[in-house]
Parts: sequence; structure tokens; C-alpha cells
Amino acid sequence: MAMLLDDLPALNDRYENAPAQEIIAHAAGDLFPRRIAVVSSFGAESAVLLHLVASVDPSLPVLFLDTLKLFGETLRYRSRMQHFLGLEDVRVIGPRKRDLEARDADGTLSMRDPDACCEIRKAEPLTRSLKGFDCWITGRKRHQTTFRNAMPILEHDGRSCKLNPLARWSGADVRGYFEQHKLPPHPLTKDGYHSIGCMPCTSRVVDESDQRSGRWAGQAKTECGIHLGKPSK
Ligand code: SF4
Repeated sequence: MAMLLDDLPALNDRYENAPAQEIIAHAAGDLFPRRIAVVSSFGAESAVLLHLVASVDPSLPVLFLDTLKLFGETLRYRSRMQHFLGLEDVRVIGPRKRDLEARDADGTLSMRDPDACCEIRKAEPLTRSLKGFDCWITGRKRHQTTFRNAMPILEHDGRSCKLNPLARWSGADVRGYFEQHKLPPHPLTKDGYHSIGCMPCTSRVVDESDQRSGRWAGQAKTECGIHLGKPSK
């Protein structure tokens, strides 16, 4: 891993103008063979990354974080897309029973302390599930938030490597890819949901120029904590 960290600048130079499919193929085949997983929410734009991954290697592990607060539409969409794309290794991960009983027995922690809720329902299960992998693939894009706008394609956050092969993609790129490959949309997008997470913390987008404005609306929070490590590039 130490040698890879030294190589991050050169790898990012190589990846910056490479097609997403090529980036995924190189990382999965050459850099992290059998040590890389995709993390997907099966949200509004997830089909793009999942389609690219399936075209490279449908047996790559896909970790789906079920916080137990998701929309029923997302759970059904996950099942539909798994079959549509031929994904062979989708793993459902989630919070520990003992954490829920100790800190969110009545299920209202998201309203009282959303950071703590994200910690037990997202960050801890993901950290636990990523043991055994050296790198995970995300669908994040630079245009989505200020926090993400300088995001490198390959980064190390102090815990593990993250590959962001869609970092350069715009909203138009995503829409074009959906059309080109006839990807089924998440059923909630037609109702005005453009960034879809947990039910209590997702609302319809009111500012069309900010697709993540429907997440934790009215709060300063823009990230759930799973992406808040310190990046090196
Ligand atoms: S997004 Fe909301 S409900 Fe989901 S884990 Fe975070 S605070 Fe809890």
C-alpha cells in the first residue's frame, strides 16, 4: 500500500482523461485484484456506475448499505437492477442490532442527532464490511457539492483507497448514459427526487441547479460521514 500511495499522483494523471470503464478495469484488474468492491446506494444515478462495473466484471462485489431507513422503492429497484445488469455478487450490509437497541431504540435518532444516526447505520457497517478490501469504488461526482469539487479520481482517506471513476461527469453526461444504454430509472425520480438516500432525510429537490438539495434539507449536513476521511492524492 505504501508504494501505491507514492504512485497516486501518477495514477491520477493517467486516470484524469481516461474513460470510466478503462479506469475501473485497470483498478480492478491490475491495482487491486480481488481486493476491490463497489459501494452503491442504488439511488437516482447509481445505474450508471453499476452498468459500467457490470461491463468490466459482473462478479465484482457490490456492497449495498441497507440502513433500514430506505424507501421501499429503493429496495425493489435494487432487486430489479441486480437482475437487469447481471450483477453476481451484491452483498446487503447494515447496522448492528446492538447499536440500534442502545442508541436508536425508538427509531428517531435521525431527527435528534443525524450524525450519530449516520454513524451507526452507515459508517460503522461500511467500515466493517470493507475489511478485506483495499479499495472501494464510488459514484461521486465533483459537481455535486463544494466538498467534492476537488475530489481526485483515486484517493486514500487515511483508511482505504477510493476510486471515483465518475468524478468528472456532469449531470448531462449521466442523463446521456441512461438514454444510450436504456437504463431503468429509479422509480422516485419521476416524482422529483434526484438524490435518494434514507426516507427521513430525503425530500424532493427544490433547487434544480443543486441535485443534492433534497438531502438533509434545511441542515448544514451534506455528507453522511462515510466520505469524510482525509484524502491524499
Ligand atoms: S441519512 Fe438520515 S436516516 Fe439515514 S443514516 Fe443518516 S441520519 Fe440516519
